[in-house]
Amino acid sequence: MANRPILALVAHDAKKDAMVEFARRNRDKLADFRLVATGTTGGRIAEACPELDITPFKSGPLGGDQQIGAMIADGNLHGLIFFVDPLTPMPHDVDVKALMRLALVYDLPMALNLSTAEILLRSARLTGLKTTSTTPEIDLFRS
Ligand code: PGA
Repeated sequence: MANRPILALVAHDAKKDAMVEFARRNRDKLADFRLVATGTTGGRIAEACPELDITPFKSGPLGGDQQIGAMIADGNLHGLIFFVDPLTPMPHDVDVKALMRLALVYDLPMALNLSTAEILLRSARLTGLKTTSTTPEIDLFRS
């Protein structure tokens, strides 16, 4: 299906097992999406669920977060699931914050933990093919 919505998946190291488990459990639903992911996260998911259509970007610390951010800014992403590790300081924290900030600016559906990710994956908004807009000031304030 050419028109599948695009979902980005990112997990910090301490959350990668949880992301793989999430992908395994939801593989049927994830098959409805084109997936992009930061490098290591994408590799782990592809290993566990080889049938999924997943494009791995660079590893997060090497620019993968920013590649996903560029998709948000261009209006090419429908949702972001980012399993954040809140307990470990990260050298690329600025990239992580930049990615979350863009998701906020463009009002992108974004889940930062497992329970919200489960809800997001089932949401009508995400499956309704609505992309973010490249004109957030108009989109955010329309009724
Ligand atoms: P990774 O990147 O999937 O390449 O580990 C995730 C991150 O932003 O830390």
